[in-house]
Amino acid sequence: MSSSRVLVLNSGSSSVKYQLLDMRDSSRLAMGLVERIGEESSRLKHTPLASGGASREWTGPMADHEAALKAVSAELAKDGLGLDSPELAAIGHRVVHGGRHFTEPTVIDDAVLAEIERLIPVAPLHNPANLTGIRTARSLRPDLPQVAVFDTAFHTTMPESAARYAIDVETADRHRIRRYGFHGTSHAYVSRATAKLLGRAPEDVNVIVLHLGNGASASAVRGGRCVDTSMGLTPLEGLVMGTRSGDVDPAVIFHLMRVGEMSTDEIDTLLNKKSGLIGLCGDNDMREIRRRIDEGDQRAALAFDIYIHRLKKYIGAYYAVLGKVDAIAFTAGVGENAAPVREAAVAGLEELGMVVDGELNAVRSDEPRLISPGHARVAVAVVPTDEELEIATQTYALVGRI
Ligand code: AMP
Repeated sequence: MSSSRVLVLNSGSSSVKYQLLDMRDSSRLAMGLVERIGEESSRLKHTPLASGGASREWTGPMADHEAALKAVSAELAKDGLGLDSPELAAIGHRVVHGGRHFTEPTVIDDAVLAEIERLIPVAPLHNPANLTGIRTARSLRPDLPQVAVFDTAFHTTMPESAARYAIDVETADRHRIRRYGFHGTSHAYVSRATAKLLGRAPEDVNVIVLHLGNGASASAVRGGRCVDTSMGLTPLEGLVMGTRSGDVDPAVIFHLMRVGEMSTDEIDTLLNKKSGLIGLCGDNDMREIRRRIDEGDQRAALAFDIYIHRLKKYIGAYYAVLGKVDAIAFTAGVGENAAPVREAAVAGLEELGMVVDGELNAVRSDEPRLISPGHARVAVAVVPTDEELEIATQTYALVGRI
């Protein structure tokens, strides 16, 4: 293939994040972000990495995703990297929900678009925005292969015992209620990168991946295949997150409806936006929470303890699911940067073979690295995630086969 560039698009309802990569050496040529699409004060921040130039910012009205993508293309064109460049091999789109149908990255055609649309009831916030991004990119470059890379795909290998909720089967099937899992691109990338760090093939290692960002999820990966993950029908289940509750007794919802007289939408907002760390202590940034703890703040300390308690429960659960664990990998904003979280999550698990070395844990680095001592039975690793590279890699591999 002579064209070697892939544009990765992550389209939200009012934002588009993008990266342009050269797949000959996986280098990043440009990256940027458009925010507040549809408002008077839309903002574009573009960083031309290939030319080493300074970031450029632009603020003004951008009516819709088409205007946003045209503005992105114009910025790219200033460095000879525009959407019309013959060097562009494909556009890779992050799509949050692929249901059970999409188990692999998929070249987008009208039937694929229809299927992504059919999944909107189970991903009402994300899939419509992803679709808008895809439709816009297709209208700008109808001749170019466009690939959907699904957040759920890596988790489609989960056995039914992990994927099904224990509710009436007919009701569940009628409404497509099951555990799909999310952050799959990150779990796939990090589990493979962890195997590489250990100098072993992905098929030969069992890994617990802890993706701890503003959203957070854990997965149990046996020989490169996901066998369980903490997010479910939606990204609300599982770990304590920045603003999401993670696991709660479902009866909390009935109680809030009956006794708290709250509406469905109010409870949705409460559990997705006003819970987790922000609900517990008013902050969702782990840096701020650690700063408050250092000053003796009790609410912040309790929020941290609840966060760690849940994390530890999932580590133990996935240890039991896997039976044998070779490595546990911390990734994303909190996992990569917050040494106290890593230390606390693994503290007391020596009997399971998990130990963190204080000095190694304190090292700051962008490289994958081990933070467990050499003699430890289970390797504890910090592995920076790279969802854009993973999307670009999968996209490029797929269009290379067309
Ligand atoms: P992500 O969603 O992966 O971008 O992660 C974002 C979160 O990472 C932020 O909300 C912070 O809580 C956390 N974070 C980022 N940098 C640090 C840091 N240096 N120390 C602790 N937490 C951090």
